[in-house]
Amino acid sequence: MEFDHGAQFFKAHSPEMKRLADHWVEQGWAAEWRGKFGRVSTGASPSVDPANLDFFGCPGASEPLFVGVGGMQSVCRRVLVCDAPGVTVRKGVRVAQVERLDGAWRLHGTSGRAALHDSPESEAALVSSSSLDNETFDFVLMTDVSSSFGAWHRASAGLTEENGCPAAPIAARVGSRPRVPLFTVMVAFRKPKGESGGLPLDAFTVTDSNELWFAARQEAKPRFPADQGAEGDELECWTLISTAAYAVAEISETTMQDEKTGAFVPQDPAYLNGPNGPSMTIVRAFRRAAVALRQPQDAVEASKGSANEFDEADGYSDIVYLQGQRWGSALAQPLHLFTEHGDGTGPGSSTVRIMNVEYDPSPGGFVTPSSQISKEGTAVLSRADAAEKPGPYLCEEAANGLEFEHDADLGFFYAGDFASRMPGRSPGIEAAALSGIAAASQMAVLLLKAQSSRTQEVV
Ligand SMILES: Cc1cc2nc3c(=O)[nH]c(=O)nc-3n(C[C@H](O)[C@H](O)[C@H](O)COP(=O)(O)OP(=O)(O)OC[C@H]3O[C@@H](n4cnc5c(N)ncnc54)[C@H](O)[C@@H]3O)c2cc1C
Repeated sequence: MEFDHGAQFFKAHSPEMKRLADHWVEQGWAAEWRGKFGRVSTGASPSVDPANLDFFGCPGASEPLFVGVGGMQSVCRRVLVCDAPGVTVRKGVRVAQVERLDGAWRLHGTSGRAALHDSPESEAALVSSSSLDNETFDFVLMTDVSSSFGAWHRASAGLTEENGCPAAPIAARVGSRPRVPLFTVMVAFRKPKGESGGLPLDAFTVTDSNELWFAARQEAKPRFPADQGAEGDELECWTLISTAAYAVAEISETTMQDEKTGAFVPQDPAYLNGPNGPSMTIVRAFRRAAVALRQPQDAVEASKGSANEFDEADGYSDIVYLQGQRWGSALAQPLHLFTEHGDGTGPGSSTVRIMNVEYDPSPGGFVTPSSQISKEGTAVLSRADAAEKPGPYLCEEAANGLEFEHDADLGFFYAGDFASRMPGRSPGIEAAALSGIAAASQMAVLLLKAQSSRTQEVV
């Protein structure tokens, strides 16, 4: 059984990303997903335009969707091994603190179980951070918004004022962007037989469900294996992604921090996968959508009933594998919602505050209103010369806080889709990749400048 349990695909809207996607496809690391995509209504009226509920533009986007061959994570692995052979990767290591020492950075952290996101707090608390190695670094680049959290969060890199971290203002700015939380469920069903067999779509958004936003059949992706169960029966593996509203309601009730002590509460399979936990709630919503897809006339009735009442109709009663996952900071609040409701430095009116963190429960929101796509954004996205340049391009926008955040004097960078404030760019892999490339380009510029001033001093 194989699943993409987070990102399901990526798009290449800009010339820079198209160039990257072409390279990855040429190498056989990524492939276009030519699936059957659609929208499903279970009978209720959607609260907003269904096109605005699309999942990262699926199914409405006209441009192709790409997936990693052998799973989304394999693209990063292959880029590291083949395109960046000089990079040293330390696996299973968590940076818990960054220290500025004589104009350079030293990293402190932990490894082993204490570094893992969902190890019990009792284990993690026993291990204190130590210097990760004796090296110091010219630059530090953060990519995960959760690193900007205080020490309570497992991904915290200690980038706070209380910690005396000089990069705290940058981390606070990135961390001020509200988060869209999501739950995902990896579920394998014994393949429905006979009349109830096979849904007509490989992936779909549900336009009127409180719980389910998107569902993707994993073996419909290019070169994912068609799976076999223990007895040789074929399985259908789906990744189901919750709505943001469901996730916000769920983490309000089962908070990610202990309400008294503030300690991190790791996600526990008994909670996630229990009979009334998030996984089964989302699976029930999937089954209602399956009924609606096969027999639209039964959809209204099914939307009222419990899953058991439509066992026969939906064909997905036989669950072979089930695992949920909570993503507290799954996505950045789309930029146009951020700037529409807030002032670009803090939360807007559509957000919900839980344990001092702002979450956005708005549905969809990935279609940027055309009024928000500024000339500046359009010009950047259509850089005519980008396609001709084989290596990382140096973009003039790099320094002005649009693609990423940085402090050149400190040598501190924050990249990723949470840090990207490019007009007209939705959160997701494309925004994260372009942000990373722009940050790397800027680092190269700073290194070259430092080198040339050292050379001049010597001369
Ligand atoms: C459920 C879900 C579905 C999604 N679907 C899509 C989709 O279909 N299409 C799309 O374009 N986007 C999708 N996204 C968004 C996409 O996953 C992100 O935009 C993308 O992963 C961001 O990439 P990144 O490299 O910036 O950060 P990440 O992928 O978050 O990587 C950050 C890395 O930093 C590590 N890290 C964090 N803290 C520390 C620390 N203190 N020390 C050491 N390491 C640390 C983390 O372990 C992680 O490996 C989805 C996201 C979720 C959660």
